Amino acid sequence: MLSENTTILMANGEIKDIANVTANSYVMCADGSAARVINVTQGYQKIYNIQQKTKHRAFEGEPGRLDPRHRTVYQRLALQCTAGHKLSVRVPTKPLLEKSGRNATKYKVRWRNLQQCQTLDGRIIIIPKNHHKTFPMTVEGEFAAKRFIEEMERSKGEYFNFDIEVRDLDYLDAQLRISSCIRFGPVLTGNGVLSKFLTGRSDLVTPAVKSMAWMLGLWLGDGTTKEPEISVDSLDPKLMESLRENAKIWGLYLTVCDDHVPLRAKHVRLHYGDGPDETRKTRNLRKNNPFWKAVTILKFKRDLDGEKQIPEFMYGEHIEVREAFLAGLIDSDGYVMKKGEGPESYKIAIQTVYSSIMDGIVHISRSLGMSATVTTRSAREEIIEGRKVQCQFTYDCNVAGGTTLQNVLSYCRSGHKTREVPPIIKREPVYFSFTDDFQGESTVYGLTIEGHKNFLLGNKIEVKSCRGCCVGEQHKISQKKNLKHCVACPRKGIKYFYKDWSGKNRVCARCYGRYKFSGHHCINCKYVPEAREVKKAKDKGEKLGITPEGLPVKGPECIKCGGILQFDAVRGPHKSCGNNAGARIC
Ligand SMILES: [Zn+2]
Ligand SMILES: [Zn+2]
Ligand SMILES: [Zn+2]
Ligand SMILES: [Zn+2]
Repeated sequence: MLSENTTILMANGEIKDIANVTANSYVMCADGSAARVINVTQGYQKIYNIQQKTKHRAFEGEPGRLDPRHRTVYQRLALQCTAGHKLSVRVPTKPLLEKSGRNATKYKVRWRNLQQCQTLDGRIIIIPKNHHKTFPMTVEGEFAAKRFIEEMERSKGEYFNFDIEVRDLDYLDAQLRISSCIRFGPVLTGNGVLSKFLTGRSDLVTPAVKSMAWMLGLWLGDGTTKEPEISVDSLDPKLMESLRENAKIWGLYLTVCDDHVPLRAKHVRLHYGDGPDETRKTRNLRKNNPFWKAVTILKFKRDLDGEKQIPEFMYGEHIEVREAFLAGLIDSDGYVMKKGEGPESYKIAIQTVYSSIMDGIVHISRSLGMSATVTTRSAREEIIEGRKVQCQFTYDCNVAGGTTLQNVLSYCRSGHKTREVPPIIKREPVYFSFTDDFQGESTVYGLTIEGHKNFLLGNKIEVKSCRGCCVGEQHKISQKKNLKHCVACPRKGIKYFYKDWSGKNRVCARCYGRYKFSGHHCINCKYVPEAREVKKAKDKGEKLGITPEGLPVKGPECIKCGGILQFDAVRGPHKSCGNNAGARIC
């Protein structure tokens, strides 16, 4: 069962709170079809937070302390469900030839299979297990080992897909647990709200509808909230030309106004009417202007305060409309990274100061089958075109995809952002690794879906229909946890812990990195400061504190808790053994 406050993607593209989902309504399935909700149950159970792993360093370093918004990981994929709820999980089968150690006398091939396993409470579950097979260290042995690997690859395929109850995740070996992934799925159908508004028919996706979607994206990125005005880079003639063409389709013509100082960015107004010969310039700027009508009536401008926003219906628009709209945002505020290799060969970043636009970009990107993450930047001063500019707190939306993203870029018109239409588009679920943590008790809802089809949550995570194992509380019996916790920060992991001041492997790689250089830790909260933080604390002067044992102690102040920092001569920085200049750790 799923926790209250979970949102569900309905078949019509609407995102609904699970508490408001009723029997006989239709949900969006992972395969793009609609399926009926057979029944809805309610209970009160322990819930677990299933959360996407990220590399975000939200809790570390100075930015996070100075601005609390930095500590939030925005739009992290997560779901909260009961211990008995099943997840669809995938792990790579990948057999590996291990050249174990210098003194190895045998070839070792690691391989995996799906097999039965008995839980502590006597249930039989089917999960992947690690195995190994050894071969003599001879030419024949190596040949046989390679043959064995090929055979494994052929018979097992690339991945194992299996269903597992949340409470049984601990039965996976550490290696298998970290390579386990769940997925979110693209949304393949569209609600046609924009088409209906523009053409009267929700199923029509004409070039005109797409050009409007693109202009709306462009305006959300670089437009003025007061009127249909967009600033356009004058060094990008293709962009200006495309705006002119797209506007013309809707009976709009452009006027360009320069500010007192001509800047690279030109203010372009979209007028509705016959042409620039009309006497009063602003006459048809807002009145009857189809573009401005779409902006205001479809609420790309929030009623409350007139701020820009991406209305929720855009998350579930026709695929082409979502693509053209996102392309408009990329043309205005986006940056295209170099093409790489593999399934996420394209990367773009879009900057915005509006949280609603950030939310929309992430939702739309994921709905197109692309991965999206958000990083943040504090308010700062930047030099742009030789002028000092005060920049606000910014969200950087990072989107990655293969042919899916290439196709979005094919809608872009800016000279250096546009790409060719890919010959085929591979739109598939996107996999991500996850953590599972006990969260507390909550009201929970169970949805049984016709045909037990997998369906999508509001955030596009694919979940399973509830079954017998969801009825009533299922107790998690195994207590073993593979995870280790870093003593100096909230991080936890399975591997890679390093020696701290006590000589035990208790700090994570990141804290160890800082510890190596600063040689300090807080005796009260165990925080490991950066070297420059130690310097700052020292400049402020020593202060008096109390050790955890209750003894008075003197030293620099910890910025985290106000406790006392201690220098550990053993691991701290010292000059290398007289040969090289500069501080080095011996
Ligand atoms: Zn369930
Ligand atoms: Zn202007
Ligand atoms: Zn740490
Ligand atoms: Zn401290």
